[in-house]
Amino acid sequence: MAASTEIETFAFQAEINQLLSLIINTFYSNKEIFLRELISNSSDALDKIRFEGLTDKSKMETQPELFIHIVPDKINNTLTIIDSGIGMSKSDLVNNLGTIARSGTKEFMEAIAAGADVSMIGQFGVGFYSAYLVCEKVIVITKHNDDEQYIWESQAGGSFTVTRDRSDEKLGRGTKMILFLKEDQLEFLEERRLKDLIKKHSEFISYPISIWIEKTSEKEISDDEDEDEVEKKEEEGKIEEIDDEKNEKKKKTIKEVSHEWSLVNKQKPIWMRKPEEITNDEYGAFYKSLTNDWEEHLAVKHFSVEGQLEFKAVLFVPKRAPFDLFDTKKKPNNIKLYVRRVFIMDNCEEIIPEYLSFVKGIVDSEDLPLNISRETLQQNKILKVIRKNLVKKCIELFFEIAENKEDYTKFYEAFSKNLKLGIHEDSGNKDKLSQLLRYYSTKSCDEMTSLKDYVTRMKDGQSNIYYITGESKKAVENSPFLEKLKKKGYEVLFMVDAIDEYATGQLKEFEGKKLVSATKEGLKLDESEDEKKNAEKLKEKFEDLCKVIKDVLGDRVEKVVVSDRVVDSPFCLVTG
Ligand code: ADP
Repeated sequence: MAASTEIETFAFQAEINQLLSLIINTFYSNKEIFLRELISNSSDALDKIRFEGLTDKSKMETQPELFIHIVPDKINNTLTIIDSGIGMSKSDLVNNLGTIARSGTKEFMEAIAAGADVSMIGQFGVGFYSAYLVCEKVIVITKHNDDEQYIWESQAGGSFTVTRDRSDEKLGRGTKMILFLKEDQLEFLEERRLKDLIKKHSEFISYPISIWIEKTSEKEISDDEDEDEVEKKEEEGKIEEIDDEKNEKKKKTIKEVSHEWSLVNKQKPIWMRKPEEITNDEYGAFYKSLTNDWEEHLAVKHFSVEGQLEFKAVLFVPKRAPFDLFDTKKKPNNIKLYVRRVFIMDNCEEIIPEYLSFVKGIVDSEDLPLNISRETLQQNKILKVIRKNLVKKCIELFFEIAENKEDYTKFYEAFSKNLKLGIHEDSGNKDKLSQLLRYYSTKSCDEMTSLKDYVTRMKDGQSNIYYITGESKKAVENSPFLEKLKKKGYEVLFMVDAIDEYATGQLKEFEGKKLVSATKEGLKLDESEDEKKNAEKLKEKFEDLCKVIKDVLGDRVEKVVVSDRVVDSPFCLVTG
């Protein structure tokens, strides 16, 4: 079959098409981020094959080396990124690069419309398309172990093609992306620029990244050297005659051009270094490369555990919640598991509980076996101990954040739901977590209060912590249910998050003080003898009136009773 008949054309899915137009047409100067995105994709692809190779060595045979190569070509104005990662099958190519839009596609465009920065693209899972910031055309050549080599090609404009690659150039396994740079983007062919970019954005990629660089050296050759050889080299443009006529000794100085791979990322992993020797900027750079976040982290904890079991970890709390924080389809967590410096897997569910899924970082274990599978991890005792330690350290980190009011406000806005979920799910840590809760209250004004501070303000004789649940602060602030409590000088917490009820249901008490809902039927406040007598009298006096009202309302209410809980309002509705 002739190659041309094999070309299949596909239309980009509508949202992806919009995304491409946006990337191509939006004025945006920080285009360099495309390289970070593509290198990050390569690194992910390498992670995947390395993991598969741990349990099935034969998968590595197609290409035993794991690398990322970058080749600038000033003659054709192309920048090529080659990785020996997992590669893509034909259906991967069609699905991943054009026909199936991730939820992040739309969310990214909305974020841009709302003023977000294009460099955030990686967070939304559509980083590949950032290539079109600098390219007019992209060719992706890729080989997956389970399929033949294929070529994907597109100049955007609504469609892409996929063709079986019958050329002699075999990748073995992996992906080669050829970027045809726009005329005003040729700076990305400069070695210096590429090296700086990789240092800046991709320093912590754990695979060797090498650039194909041009080297020129000067060399003296004497006349008696093989003339033919020199001539041949001259013709090929590899050497250039510099000095001839003036040279009395009849010696030639020539410039010799050669190419070689130059390794760019030589750092040892940050978690292997001593915390006291690492600057916050370095942590920030590591965090960004780990997470694709455009902002630095809010807080970091770098520690090692030694003894019966050994591991090192770096944990980060981001500044904001991700757009898919409670999306059930998203990955279970953000901890990368390494074993003795070798990346093992993302998304290991057992490594950290769900409520801490927003914490990002790495764990490097000395004890786990390298060829561990997801199934055996579930039962693994070492992993259980790691998990326990991670939870402990996360909570410590939250307490550290709480020492700075401004930081804690940010943190709480983003992740209070997670803390509350934690109270519900992690009974062993609920007491600790409850100290991190903050609420507005009848006495807190514009600041939120902790339960601890509430307790210090409790009135003599007050034995419970009172709260009211509702839609918003506004909705509960003037509730008639508060009247009696306010009159007694009791503070009431405003619980206006749907998850609050869920959490307090589990928490039940704080420092021995019961949590009591102000809207609960039969709410008993600590009353004096006189108050009790008065209440009895009132009840008798209005018994008949209550009957009449109940008759009028019929089944719409269960019962009508005299209550002492409102002070100024005539009545209130109470739930069972
Ligand atoms: P993300 O990488 O965040 O998932 P991208 O738009 O950058 O989103 O890439 C889409 C998908 O294309 C990836 O999830 C991956 O499956 C595939 N892909 C991209 N680059 C490569 C690569 N170098 N090797 C293998 N697969 C890749």
